[in-house]
Amino acid sequence: MKFADLHLHTNFSDGTFTPEELAGHGARLGFSALALTDHDTVEGCERMATACAAAGIEFIVGAELTAEYEDTELHVLGYFLNPQNKKLLTEIAKFQAVRQNRIHEMVTRLNELGVPLEAESVFALANCKSPGRPHVARALAKAGLVKNLDEAFERFLKKNRPAWVPKSKMSALEAIELVHQAGGLAVMAHPGLNRTDEIIPALVEAGLDGIECFHTKHSTVMSERYLEIADKFHLLVTGGSDCHGFSKGKPLIGGVKLPYEHVEKMKEARGRKTAEPSNR
Ligand code: AMP
Ligand code: ZN
Ligand code: FE
Ligand code: FE
Repeated sequence: MKFADLHLHTNFSDGTFTPEELAGHGARLGFSALALTDHDTVEGCERMATACAAAGIEFIVGAELTAEYEDTELHVLGYFLNPQNKKLLTEIAKFQAVRQNRIHEMVTRLNELGVPLEAESVFALANCKSPGRPHVARALAKAGLVKNLDEAFERFLKKNRPAWVPKSKMSALEAIELVHQAGGLAVMAHPGLNRTDEIIPALVEAGLDGIECFHTKHSTVMSERYLEIADKFHLLVTGGSDCHGFSKGKPLIGGVKLPYEHVEKMKEARGRKTAEPSNR
């Protein structure tokens, strides 16, 4: 049986694997298709495409956009994006700048708390345009200022903890539109994590194409619930591990195996969308 993992991060955002390492794990585990969904960037996709091609794996260009709907944070996955789409690149560059500024703000708060972390050490460790809290956590651990990443999040970085800084986000409706104009399919990521089921009808109204039913942190009951919701709203079904390499304990790739028939349905849906040229 063929299967796919459509939710993966590399060191182009807050994962620890390079695209080549990630493709290598995908090949070892027997995946037929992989999608890269780094946070607010498509930069890693070119290398991932090359690495997947060399390993005989089908590759899908993706991204995970941080968005909000009426003060609820949600993540919108885009698939089959044109990675050269101008509007996509312009918009995600804005959110990359937001992420970089936020690192400075988090470090300032840590310094005010007496934790002597330097922003430069976070940027050096992150070495990417989409830095985030996991990089701050790793820099804190590396400097011996916390024992481990959990302590960094629990003491400082979790929502409403003293060094947490909210992040300005695009609206979910803008995210869906941005994905569509870049030729992609828009999918709601890990709905079970955000507990945002009540907003699904509004997102469907805005053109949502699919929902991530299978995810490392979804229980079987949750997956079944979202399969029913997908059926009810005629949404595509997707799934992935959300592997971040060693950034969150052990690598998760291999833990979620999406039957390949869902990838075929995504490709059919994309084919039906006779989108105008998206490279404007
Ligand atoms: P950011 O995009 O900067 O808000 O960071 C989000 C990333 O931090 C995601 O990959 C989350 O899974 C990760 N994250 C959030 N909370 C925790 C936590 N308590 N422990 C470890 N990682 C976390
Ligand atoms: Zn992440
Ligand atoms: Fe997410
Ligand atoms: Fe993710």
